[in-house]
Amino acid sequence: MAETADVVIIGGGIVGSSIAYHLTAAGCRNVVVLERETHQGKGSTGKSMGGVRAQFSTAVNIRMSLYSIPFYAQFDEAMGYPAGYRGQGYLFVATKDAHMNYLRANYERQIGLGLKTVRLVSGDEIRSMFPLLRGDDIVGGSFCSTDGFVDPNSAMVGFMNRAREQGATLLRECEVTGISIDHDGVSVIETTRGTFSTRTVVNAAGAWAAQVAKLAGIDLPVEPLRRMLVPTEPFDQFPHTAPMIIDMTNGFHFRPESLGFLLAWNDPEETPGYKTNFEPAFVEKVLTRAADRVPCFENLAVNPKRAWAGLYEMTPDHHPVLGPVAGVPGFFLANGFSGHGVMHAPATGKIVSDLILKGSTDLIDASLLGFDRFASGKLIEETAVL
Ligand SMILES: Cc1cc2nc3c(=O)[nH]c(=O)nc-3n(C[C@H](O)[C@H](O)[C@H](O)COP(=O)(O)OP(=O)(O)OC[C@H]3O[C@@H](n4cnc5c(N)ncnc54)[C@H](O)[C@@H]3O)c2cc1C
Repeated sequence: MAETADVVIIGGGIVGSSIAYHLTAAGCRNVVVLERETHQGKGSTGKSMGGVRAQFSTAVNIRMSLYSIPFYAQFDEAMGYPAGYRGQGYLFVATKDAHMNYLRANYERQIGLGLKTVRLVSGDEIRSMFPLLRGDDIVGGSFCSTDGFVDPNSAMVGFMNRAREQGATLLRECEVTGISIDHDGVSVIETTRGTFSTRTVVNAAGAWAAQVAKLAGIDLPVEPLRRMLVPTEPFDQFPHTAPMIIDMTNGFHFRPESLGFLLAWNDPEETPGYKTNFEPAFVEKVLTRAADRVPCFENLAVNPKRAWAGLYEMTPDHHPVLGPVAGVPGFFLANGFSGHGVMHAPATGKIVSDLILKGSTDLIDASLLGFDRFASGKLIEETAVL
């Protein structure tokens, strides 16, 4: 016999966990989360760089951050579990006038939406803030002091712990293998641990979202794209109070991590696919860009065995797909974060919970992120993707 639930969430990463938390916080008790792995965090959440920022170019992304970052700032107290939020900021470093024009337009939009902690900075200010950056070509930048970092794994566990206290159930080693939805809107979900029956299903399967959507007959344009990160050995020649620093010349970015730094660069030659192996040749690519912007990084020591790769979940317009699917009753999407799923997990949980329980949300104009935008061609491009 099928087990019944009010809501079944497929995927126990940070997004599924936040949705489970927000649903149960709003009084929905019979929520079941199905996770195919032996433990949470084996998808993209456990591979993330943990950056959180409100410095986006589109209103919808900025609004999602305006909910999420204060949420992370008070997470530990509210959840009784640490999210590890550190408001050390994000500093975008411009080396061309075109970058500055872009940052200025984003800044105006961010301020207009109520962000108070962002400001434009001059080249001289950046050179005096961080004299160890090569500064000859820096024309200015944008700095937001409440941007920063969280511990994605810890935040995910905190969300899920509280969701379970509030009535949710997490089933591990439970892979969803089939979904059928009848005309009355009752879904039957086949898994490796039995069958579940529900009127509301949420796809929170991260980079595997298209496969799960396919089980319900939906063609979801979410593609996996490999991203690689390189942690350094302990290094104290650059301040550990530094923000995430982004060199807009080439997209190289880095932040302090433990006693060293975490280095990132999105290789434009990467192609979509389920590739999760770390490519040793990436170390030299990222170190070249690191030493170019931070000359003392020439002395960085890196152990390639500690480097890792994970998957972004890309949509054609680099925005998530949230909400119901016309013609597929009770099937909700929480997918396609295009590399921003950790920072936007709190807002996503609230939006998806609102849409399930009330049919609308005040947090954003949810129609902007609907599935039907792909068919109608109403895409909203986000260009501030790292
Ligand atoms: C290298 C790297 C750096 C990143 N840096 C950042 C950053 O700085 N800031 C940021 O906000 N984001 C960042 N991201 C993106 C972020 O990690 C993701 O957007 C986020 O983790 C997505 O969360 P999720 O819960 O949707 O997916 P996941 O964490 O992947 O969870 C999905 C879960 O679904 C499960 N699943 C899949 N199929 C099935 C099935 N059939 N049945 C049951 N379970 C299933 C999987 O096992 C997985 O646990 C980064 C990602 C990578 C790879």
